[in-house]
Amino acid sequence: MTEYRIRPLEVAQITAIKAVVTQMCDLITPLTVPVLAFYLEGGSQKILVDTGVLESENYHGFPLSGSGPRGMIKALAEIGLKPEDIDIVIITHMHFDHAANISLFPNARFILQKKEWEYAKAPLPLQRAVYLTDLLGQLEKYDLILADDGYEVADGVNVICVPGHTKGQQAIVVNTSDGKYVISGDLCYLQVNLHPELESFVDSMGATINCTPQPDHAFYPPGIHTDLSEWYNSVWRVLSIAGSRSHILPGHDPSLVRRVFPEK
Ligand SMILES: [Zn+2]
Repeated sequence: MTEYRIRPLEVAQITAIKAVVTQMCDLITPLTVPVLAFYLEGGSQKILVDTGVLESENYHGFPLSGSGPRGMIKALAEIGLKPEDIDIVIITHMHFDHAANISLFPNARFILQKKEWEYAKAPLPLQRAVYLTDLLGQLEKYDLILADDGYEVADGVNVICVPGHTKGQQAIVVNTSDGKYVISGDLCYLQVNLHPELESFVDSMGATINCTPQPDHAFYPPGIHTDLSEWYNSVWRVLSIAGSRSHILPGHDPSLVRRVFPEK
Protein backbone atom coordinates (compact mmCIF):
# COMPACT_ATOMS: atom_id res chain seq x y z
CA MET A 1 0.00 0.00 0.00
CA THR A 2 1.21 3.53 -0.79
CA GLU A 3 2.85 5.27 2.15
CA TYR A 4 2.35 9.02 2.40
CA ARG A 5 3.94 11.91 4.27
CA ILE A 6 1.52 14.51 5.58
CA ARG A 7 2.49 18.20 5.42
CA PRO A 8 0.29 20.61 7.38
CA LEU A 9 0.20 23.97 5.57
CA GLU A 10 -0.55 27.21 7.41
CA VAL A 11 -2.66 29.21 4.96
CA ALA A 12 -3.92 31.96 7.32
CA GLN A 13 -4.45 32.69 11.00
CA ILE A 14 -7.70 33.06 12.91
CA THR A 15 -8.37 34.55 16.34
CA ALA A 16 -11.07 33.32 18.70
CA ILE A 17 -11.60 32.71 22.40
CA LYS A 18 -10.66 29.42 23.98
CA ALA A 19 -14.31 28.64 24.73
CA VAL A 20 -14.71 28.10 20.97
CA VAL A 21 -12.04 25.42 21.16
CA THR A 22 -13.19 23.85 24.43
CA GLN A 23 -16.87 24.31 25.07
CA MET A 24 -17.68 26.69 27.94
CA CYS A 25 -14.16 26.46 29.33
CA ASP A 26 -11.85 29.49 29.69
CA LEU A 27 -14.47 31.91 28.44
CA ILE A 28 -12.41 35.07 28.13
CA THR A 29 -9.08 33.67 26.96
CA PRO A 30 -8.17 34.88 23.45
CA LEU A 31 -5.98 32.80 21.19
CA THR A 32 -4.73 32.83 17.61
CA VAL A 33 -4.39 29.57 15.68
CA PRO A 34 -3.54 28.58 12.11
CA VAL A 35 -6.04 27.88 9.37
CA LEU A 36 -4.60 24.63 8.08
CA ALA A 37 -4.64 22.67 4.86
CA PHE A 38 -2.77 19.38 4.51
CA TYR A 39 -0.76 18.10 1.56
CA LEU A 40 -0.32 14.35 1.11
CA GLU A 41 2.90 13.55 -0.68
CA GLY A 42 4.25 10.22 -1.83
CA GLY A 43 1.41 9.00 -4.04
CA SER A 44 0.91 9.16 -7.79
CA GLN A 45 -1.62 12.00 -7.39
CA LYS A 46 -1.24 15.35 -5.66
CA ILE A 47 -3.79 15.40 -2.85
CA LEU A 48 -4.78 18.45 -0.81
CA VAL A 49 -7.06 18.49 2.23
CA ASP A 50 -9.08 21.73 2.61
CA THR A 51 -8.78 24.98 0.69
CA GLY A 52 -8.43 27.72 3.29
CA VAL A 53 -10.50 30.67 4.45
CA LEU A 54 -12.54 33.44 2.84
CA GLU A 55 -10.86 36.77 2.16
CA SER A 56 -11.82 38.91 5.13
CA GLU A 57 -10.24 40.75 8.03
CA ASN A 58 -13.02 39.79 10.37
CA TYR A 59 -15.54 37.11 9.47
CA HIS A 60 -18.51 36.57 11.79
CA GLY A 61 -16.46 38.13 14.59
CA PHE A 62 -13.37 36.00 14.00
CA PRO A 63 -10.37 38.26 13.19
CA LEU A 64 -8.32 36.81 10.31
CA SER A 65 -4.88 37.50 8.94
CA GLY A 66 -3.47 36.30 5.62
CA SER A 67 -6.93 35.19 4.48
CA GLY A 68 -8.11 34.48 0.95
CA PRO A 69 -6.27 32.84 -1.95
CA ARG A 70 -2.86 34.39 -1.29
CA GLY A 71 -2.13 32.35 1.82
CA MET A 72 -2.94 29.11 0.02
CA ILE A 73 -0.83 30.03 -3.01
CA LYS A 74 2.11 30.98 -0.77
CA ALA A 75 1.89 27.82 1.34
CA LEU A 76 1.84 25.60 -1.75
CA ALA A 77 4.73 27.53 -3.33
CA GLU A 78 6.83 26.80 -0.25
CA ILE A 79 6.60 23.09 -1.11
CA GLY A 80 7.15 23.67 -4.83
CA LEU A 81 3.53 23.46 -5.98
CA LYS A 82 0.97 25.64 -7.71
CA PRO A 83 -2.78 25.29 -7.08
CA GLU A 84 -3.34 24.06 -10.63
CA ASP A 85 -1.00 21.13 -9.95
CA ILE A 86 -3.44 19.64 -7.43
CA ASP A 87 -5.26 16.52 -8.67
CA ILE A 88 -7.57 15.86 -5.72
CA VAL A 89 -9.05 18.19 -3.10
CA ILE A 90 -10.70 16.63 -0.07
CA ILE A 91 -12.93 19.09 1.78
CA THR A 92 -13.40 18.10 5.41
CA HIS A 93 -16.48 20.27 5.85
CA MET A 94 -18.09 23.40 4.42
CA HIS A 95 -17.16 25.94 7.09
CA PHE A 96 -15.81 29.30 5.90
CA ASP A 97 -12.27 28.50 7.07
CA HIS A 98 -11.98 25.12 5.31
CA ALA A 99 -13.75 25.27 1.96
CA ALA A 100 -13.03 28.72 0.47
CA ASN A 101 -10.88 29.52 -2.60
CA ILE A 102 -12.02 26.50 -4.62
CA SER A 103 -11.62 28.37 -7.92
CA LEU A 104 -7.85 28.13 -7.38
CA PHE A 105 -8.03 24.43 -8.27
CA PRO A 106 -9.38 24.12 -11.82
CA ASN A 107 -7.81 20.70 -12.44
CA ALA A 108 -8.86 19.01 -9.23
CA ARG A 109 -11.47 16.43 -8.40
CA PHE A 110 -13.31 17.49 -5.24
CA ILE A 111 -14.43 15.04 -2.59
CA LEU A 112 -17.06 15.85 0.02
CA GLN A 113 -19.24 13.59 2.13
CA LYS A 114 -22.76 13.19 0.78
CA LYS A 115 -24.12 13.98 4.26
CA GLU A 116 -22.15 17.24 4.44
CA TRP A 117 -23.49 18.26 1.03
CA GLU A 118 -27.04 17.70 2.25
CA TYR A 119 -26.46 19.49 5.54
CA ALA A 120 -24.75 22.47 3.87
CA LYS A 121 -27.94 23.18 1.90
CA ALA A 122 -29.81 23.99 5.11
CA PRO A 123 -27.60 24.24 8.20
CA LEU A 124 -29.02 24.93 11.63
CA PRO A 125 -29.94 28.64 11.79
CA LEU A 126 -27.16 29.29 14.30
CA GLN A 127 -24.57 27.94 11.86
CA ARG A 128 -25.74 29.52 8.60
CA ALA A 129 -23.25 32.35 8.86
CA VAL A 130 -20.23 30.05 9.10
CA TYR A 131 -21.41 27.77 6.27
CA LEU A 132 -20.39 28.30 2.67
CA THR A 133 -23.79 27.38 1.27
CA ASP A 134 -23.18 29.63 -1.75
CA LEU A 135 -20.29 27.39 -2.73
CA LEU A 136 -22.50 24.42 -3.48
CA GLY A 137 -23.44 25.83 -6.88
CA GLN A 138 -19.78 26.47 -7.67
CA LEU A 139 -18.77 22.98 -6.62
CA GLU A 140 -21.34 21.45 -8.95
CA LYS A 141 -19.34 22.81 -11.89
CA TYR A 142 -16.34 20.74 -10.83
CA ASP A 143 -15.54 17.06 -10.96
CA LEU A 144 -17.27 16.41 -7.66
CA ILE A 145 -17.62 13.15 -5.78
CA LEU A 146 -20.16 12.97 -2.98
CA ALA A 147 -18.63 10.19 -0.96
CA ASP A 148 -20.00 7.73 1.54
CA ASP A 149 -18.25 6.63 4.71
CA GLY A 150 -15.10 4.66 3.89
CA TYR A 151 -14.68 5.91 0.33
CA GLU A 152 -11.21 5.18 -1.08
CA VAL A 153 -9.78 8.42 -2.49
CA ALA A 154 -6.53 6.82 -3.62
CA ASP A 155 -4.47 3.82 -2.64
CA GLY A 156 -3.76 4.35 1.07
CA VAL A 157 -6.21 7.27 1.52
CA ASN A 158 -9.78 6.79 2.71
CA VAL A 159 -12.36 9.22 4.03
CA ILE A 160 -14.70 8.44 6.90
CA CYS A 161 -17.78 10.33 8.04
CA VAL A 162 -17.24 11.75 11.54
CA PRO A 163 -20.34 13.74 12.49
CA GLY A 164 -20.49 15.90 15.58
CA HIS A 165 -18.82 19.21 14.70
CA THR A 166 -21.05 19.21 11.61
CA LYS A 167 -23.56 16.65 10.33
CA GLY A 168 -21.34 15.27 7.61
CA GLN A 169 -17.74 16.16 8.31
CA GLN A 170 -15.16 13.73 6.99
CA ALA A 171 -11.79 12.73 8.41
CA ILE A 172 -9.00 11.38 6.24
CA VAL A 173 -7.29 8.10 7.06
CA VAL A 174 -3.80 8.12 5.58
CA ASN A 175 -1.42 5.17 5.34
CA THR A 176 2.18 6.02 6.29
CA SER A 177 5.42 4.19 7.10
CA ASP A 178 4.36 4.51 10.75
CA GLY A 179 0.86 3.11 10.36
CA LYS A 180 -2.36 5.04 9.97
CA TYR A 181 -2.70 8.76 10.64
CA VAL A 182 -6.07 10.51 10.76
CA ILE A 183 -6.53 14.14 9.69
CA SER A 184 -9.47 14.99 11.91
CA GLY A 185 -10.66 18.29 10.44
CA ASP A 186 -12.50 20.23 13.13
CA LEU A 187 -13.69 17.14 14.94
CA CYS A 188 -10.75 18.21 17.12
CA TYR A 189 -9.51 21.78 16.77
CA LEU A 190 -6.42 21.49 18.91
CA GLN A 191 -4.39 18.96 20.88
CA VAL A 192 -6.24 20.14 24.00
CA ASN A 193 -9.40 18.44 22.66
CA LEU A 194 -7.44 15.17 22.67
CA HIS A 195 -5.51 15.97 25.86
CA PRO A 196 -7.89 17.75 28.27
CA GLU A 197 -5.30 17.40 31.03
CA LEU A 198 -3.09 20.05 29.37
CA GLU A 199 -2.33 23.06 31.54
CA SER A 200 -1.10 25.31 28.74
CA PHE A 201 0.00 25.48 25.13
CA VAL A 202 1.59 28.06 22.86
CA ASP A 203 -0.56 29.74 20.20
CA SER A 204 0.42 31.10 16.77
CA MET A 205 1.46 34.45 18.25
CA GLY A 206 3.84 32.76 20.68
CA ALA A 207 1.51 33.48 23.59
CA THR A 208 1.18 30.93 26.37
CA ILE A 209 -2.48 29.96 26.63
CA ASN A 210 -3.33 28.81 30.13
CA CYS A 211 -5.96 26.09 30.26
CA THR A 212 -8.23 24.93 33.03
CA PRO A 213 -7.16 21.26 33.06
CA GLN A 214 -9.92 18.68 32.68
CA PRO A 215 -8.16 15.45 33.72
CA ASP A 216 -11.42 13.57 34.30
CA HIS A 217 -12.34 13.75 30.61
CA ALA A 218 -11.03 11.35 27.96
CA PHE A 219 -11.65 14.09 25.36
CA TYR A 220 -13.02 17.62 25.47
CA PRO A 221 -15.46 18.83 22.80
CA PRO A 222 -15.21 22.06 20.82
CA GLY A 223 -17.78 24.80 21.32
CA ILE A 224 -19.24 24.47 17.81
CA HIS A 225 -21.11 21.26 17.09
CA THR A 226 -24.32 19.82 15.75
CA ASP A 227 -24.53 16.76 18.02
CA LEU A 228 -22.33 16.07 21.02
CA SER A 229 -23.30 12.39 21.26
CA GLU A 230 -22.19 11.90 17.68
CA TRP A 231 -19.04 13.86 18.46
CA TYR A 232 -17.98 11.44 21.20
CA ASN A 233 -18.70 8.43 19.00
CA SER A 234 -16.69 9.95 16.16
CA VAL A 235 -13.67 10.73 18.35
CA TRP A 236 -13.59 7.20 19.79
CA ARG A 237 -13.86 5.81 16.27
CA VAL A 238 -11.00 7.98 15.01
CA LEU A 239 -8.85 6.92 17.96
CA SER A 240 -9.54 3.25 17.28
CA ILE A 241 -8.41 3.71 13.66
CA ALA A 242 -5.36 5.87 14.46
CA GLY A 243 -4.32 3.62 17.33
CA SER A 244 -2.81 6.54 19.24
CA ARG A 245 -3.69 10.17 19.94
CA SER A 246 -0.32 11.14 18.48
CA HIS A 247 -1.57 9.86 15.10
CA ILE A 248 -4.58 12.21 15.08
CA LEU A 249 -3.91 15.59 13.43
CA PRO A 250 -6.32 18.30 14.65
CA GLY A 251 -7.74 20.97 12.36
CA HIS A 252 -6.12 24.12 13.83
CA ASP A 253 -3.25 23.14 16.09
CA PRO A 254 -0.30 25.59 16.10
CA SER A 255 2.16 22.81 16.95
CA LEU A 256 1.59 21.14 13.54
CA VAL A 257 2.97 24.03 11.49
CA ARG A 258 6.18 23.25 9.57
CA ARG A 259 6.25 19.64 10.68
CA VAL A 260 5.86 16.50 8.56
CA PHE A 261 4.08 13.31 9.66
CA PRO A 262 5.29 10.70 10.31
CA GLU A 263 8.29 12.44 11.81
CA LYS A 264 10.70 9.49 11.58
ZN1 LIG B 1 -15.38 23.87 11.38
